[in-house]
Amino acid sequence: MAGKVGATGTAAAELAGLLRESASTVALTGAGISVPSGIPDFRSPGTGLWTKLDPMKVAHIDAFHRDTAAFWSYYRPRFETLGDKRPNPAHEVLAELERRGMLDGVVTQNIDRLHTAAGSERVVEVHGSIATSSCTSCGCTYRLEEVDDLFDEDGIATCRGCMGKVKPDVVLFGEYLPEDAMAEAQRLCAGADMLLCVGSSLEVYPVAGLPELTLAAGGRVAVVTQGPTPYDSRAAVRLGGDVVADLGAVLAALG
Ligand code: ZN
Repeated sequence: MAGKVGATGTAAAELAGLLRESASTVALTGAGISVPSGIPDFRSPGTGLWTKLDPMKVAHIDAFHRDTAAFWSYYRPRFETLGDKRPNPAHEVLAELERRGMLDGVVTQNIDRLHTAAGSERVVEVHGSIATSSCTSCGCTYRLEEVDDLFDEDGIATCRGCMGKVKPDVVLFGEYLPEDAMAEAQRLCAGADMLLCVGSSLEVYPVAGLPELTLAAGGRVAVVTQGPTPYDSRAAVRLGGDVVADLGAVLAALG
């Protein structure tokens, strides 16, 4: 085990060195960075909230339109659970790197708002966020705290203005990713000297194609994720332990 700790320490020091050298670093984060905050990765089997129902069916745009009450009966408690979660030290390391001028921004697949809560200022949420919900008829927007007051007796969040159906501003299964956010993510990743990928298996497109943009432009990719990713063989450095411990070691190595 001493050898393993040593190897992790070496990789963390190597990543710290690459961060110092890089003129432009961007982070790309996925579900793994929020697991230490108590938010399960729905693709991991046996993780509480997600096991009773298949999210790919219930959290699907067709399900929202077909049976809005059933959609919200699944989504409403999830909303409330997510709203209570707090950022963990891994989120805080990324916010600290931005404060130090060592990170240009965070592109995230997560909808939990925890990067912003940790103090990150430039956050591109390519799957949207639970922060707001919008009316599918008139387009008006409600903050997370307001949504609870919108439910009618059937359990459907209903617009106060036009009585239309209100939908969370997150990308549901069967929906396209928001064009503006994806364009911004692509621009950031293509312009980065280094893309720091944290807690993402980098398997779900189009986000999985973002490291390709960095590599194609001559930049480096670093991977800090448990489990394999398609970019491991091309990563300049690879850390695969606990995300809080790994990023903590990198920050410690930066001094
Ligand atoms: Zn409306």
